[in-house]
Amino acid sequence: MTSEILVKAVDVCKSFGTFKALQDVSLEVRKGEVSCIIGPSGSGKSTFLRCINLLERIDSGAIWANGELIGYRRDGNKLYEMSDAEIARQRRGIGMVFQRFNLFPHKTALENVVEGPVQVLGESPKAARDHALELLKRVGLADKAGSYPAELSGGQQQRVAIARAMGMRPSLILFDEPTSALDPELVAEVLDVMNDLAASGMTMIVVTHEMGFARNVSNTVAFMDGGRLIEHGPSARVLTQPDNPRTADFLKAVQ
Ligand code: ADP
Ligand code: MG
Repeated sequence: MTSEILVKAVDVCKSFGTFKALQDVSLEVRKGEVSCIIGPSGSGKSTFLRCINLLERIDSGAIWANGELIGYRRDGNKLYEMSDAEIARQRRGIGMVFQRFNLFPHKTALENVVEGPVQVLGESPKAARDHALELLKRVGLADKAGSYPAELSGGQQQRVAIARAMGMRPSLILFDEPTSALDPELVAEVLDVMNDLAASGMTMIVVTHEMGFARNVSNTVAFMDGGRLIEHGPSARVLTQPDNPRTADFLKAVQ
């Protein structure tokens, strides 16, 4: 793939107190690429996604998203820090789908999708509603537009969450274990939607334990362990012939 680099992390470090959650993490993701991040629990996967989405501020290193430097950069002694307005603007372009669907419980599926585009992007309610209905149709939930989250299955709620992320017209969507909280029989419907999204050219970074998705849908796989990103490459290669013995051990354990 030769398209432009949409996300670039260089030597990103992040500590919580004295605990080093991320150590010199570097990764490049190109436009249209689906990149899976795999690795054991506690290896820093969520923290890394949260840094890309500016939910966490990095201690050192640099992250570029959509061609802009975000977060901190150590430049000699100079720390670059974005203003709150810049952070809000940058975050608008990056969708996030969490393990727990995080829908607004007192809003219908349609209202959940419409909220951001109207409140944050300033779209007209009519335009936002038309777009939201189109997105709900795309995730197979045209008939659930008026349902509240409590009336939907976990798989349906997660599909609404994906439609909601897409409603913001992001250039990138981050998924943090989007199927881990689902009953096994509901996993496929969410992976199908993600598969469609990938096929449509959306750039996606997906933290997942779904090795089938990593193998069949993602272009690249990154393996994290102990706060370090220790291997990254084409999915077929990383999943079948990993360079690093820790990647091989992890794959043996999950496959
Ligand atoms: P993963 O998503 O790979 O399971 P996380 O990124 O959630 O890992 O966490 C990496 C490590 O950082 C864990 O040991 C976790 O306890 C720690 N951690 C994450 N967030 C915080 C926080 N806000 N405060 C303190 N420790 C944290
Ligand atoms: Mg996590």
